[in-house]
Amino acid sequence: KAPVHGTITGPLVMIGLGSIGKGALPLIERHFEFDAKRFTVIDPVDTDAKLVTDRGYAFQKAALTPDNYKEILTPLLTEGKGQGFVVNLSVDTSSLDIMKLCRKLGVLYIDTVVEPWPGFYFDDKASAADRTNYALRETVRKEKKKNPGGTTAVSCCGANPGMVSWFVKQALLDIAADLGLKAKTPDSQKGWAKLMKKAGVKGIHIAERDTQRATAPKPMDEFWNTWSVEGFLSEGFQPAELGWGTHERWKPKNAHEHKKGCRAAIYLEQPGASTRVRTWCPTPGAQYGFLVTHNEAISIADYFTVEEGKKLKFRPTCHYAYHPANVAVLSLHELFGSAGKVQDKLHVLDEREIQDGTDELGVLLYGHKKNAYWYGSQLSIEETRKLAPYQNATGLQVTSAVLAGMVWALENPEAGIVETDEMDHARCLEIQKPYLGPVKGYYTDWTPLDGRPGFFPEDLDETDPWQFKNILVR
Ligand code: NAD
Repeated sequence: KAPVHGTITGPLVMIGLGSIGKGALPLIERHFEFDAKRFTVIDPVDTDAKLVTDRGYAFQKAALTPDNYKEILTPLLTEGKGQGFVVNLSVDTSSLDIMKLCRKLGVLYIDTVVEPWPGFYFDDKASAADRTNYALRETVRKEKKKNPGGTTAVSCCGANPGMVSWFVKQALLDIAADLGLKAKTPDSQKGWAKLMKKAGVKGIHIAERDTQRATAPKPMDEFWNTWSVEGFLSEGFQPAELGWGTHERWKPKNAHEHKKGCRAAIYLEQPGASTRVRTWCPTPGAQYGFLVTHNEAISIADYFTVEEGKKLKFRPTCHYAYHPANVAVLSLHELFGSAGKVQDKLHVLDEREIQDGTDELGVLLYGHKKNAYWYGSQLSIEETRKLAPYQNATGLQVTSAVLAGMVWALENPEAGIVETDEMDHARCLEIQKPYLGPVKGYYTDWTPLDGRPGFFPEDLDETDPWQFKNILVR
């Protein structure tokens, strides 16, 4: 029998019944005790409402907006006794506003992305800097500073952002042990950042290869993906962003720093989904990935920053290097080639539409004495089908992180606003691991200079293979 990890004593509200919401549902049922009469799922689309109502929970067909979210959520969250919980798995709702309301009501909160109300991502009057994840993340960091402590709200707790921050810590401990550093597990941000510096890590890729293959070939003029197409398009059209390490000696001409905030990241004036980088995953080996902006690129670089007084001493470079499912690569190629016209049909492949494949999602810590180390989950669609219903491998890596984050929030209900970097990685991975397939570490000799230059001259930095100059495909 599946272990019950905790009790939700008050009302439970899940916002969004898309690919992630549907997958989270069975895990919530399996691992928590809660009052079935006070569980409500909210979504403007009711195609899958039966999944909820057949189980005896309430489904409310509504789109949350800046004008109605308080009116809709407050009565649900204040009904009866106990502490409520909001699980936000929607697009087009403001994570910050909903999180603030929850904390005011003493209700626990979790999401998987800092999502804005509609209009943010495709505002053609906004500057590139205004459309970054850096800007979105700063709004949450500001709120944390202004109102420290209080009811726990977990920000950005999916697979990535989310789980990968726990992988980074485990990977760092593995490397430190293999280097003979005799390091104890750090118990503070400072301790973790110092260990990263001591281990000689220069940078981190969130290195992902999704080999899930659709049973049917993708027709023209359709965008197919293994998770939210809307979510992927939003982030894919944002500027490419990366945590900017102290070892970097070169920057692209279109790179910009931020004037305010943590200043841990830079952005490039080009869309992430057409920015390619050289990276490495265990199954394919060397591969191209897209440098799509993600919260974790900024939060990890920020978390592992070492400062002395106000002086910056160390920071790793950190960015996403994502090879999505082949159908999504093809969809992007079509989209950018058609002058940015988004396909007429957007489709998320569910577990029945996938014939085989694995989502290999991990972190590649590079530049240290053992060159590079990938640590992560290699979850296949076959194993996913055995583990949990209504989702593919990509989905289960996300929903199991939500599960772990919910458990952590129940166990730490007064931790204030937290990012996954600030949570207990060992406890979270303990909860999540049964859903991740093989979770393993691999060292590699690969560097971004392998096989280069080829037939043509290239502008390389041969004195340090791990410079961003060598990683970025130009
Ligand atoms: P999806 O597109 O399949 O589903 C999103 C759902 O939100 C849809 O059912 C939609 O109807 C609903 N929705 C839209 N507007 C709404 C509104 N105003 N109020 C309430 N609901 C609304 O997306 P998904 O794949 O389920 O992803 C959900 C969220 O999770 C997205 O924000 C995505 O970026 C995020 N995500 C995070 C990770 C991670 O690893 N951190 C991974 C995948 C997805």
